Amino acid sequence: MNHKYLCPSCQGNRSRFYLIKKLAQEVRIDPNTGKIVWAADEWEDVLDDGELYLEVRCALCGYTSRENVFTQAAKNLGASNNLAID
Ligand SMILES: [Zn+2]
Repeated sequence: MNHKYLCPSCQGNRSRFYLIKKLAQEVRIDPNTGKIVWAADEWEDVLDDGELYLEVRCALCGYTSRENVFTQAAKNLGASNNLAID
């Protein structure tokens, strides 16, 4: 996985991020009581079109969105904006 990111909010951060993935656990619930009567042993990665559902959070400004928002920002602004923040 080699994706360049750029935060579209603060537009300066290209290097410090949190990757956020979703986990799902299948459960069966008693419709009358709301009690969980069965739960799968494992939490599974949530996929989106066969790929890991991934969000990215900017470690500087906290902006959070789908990964493609960050990769698109890196593509769109990559040529004209070379700000770097350490
Ligand atoms: Zn940011």
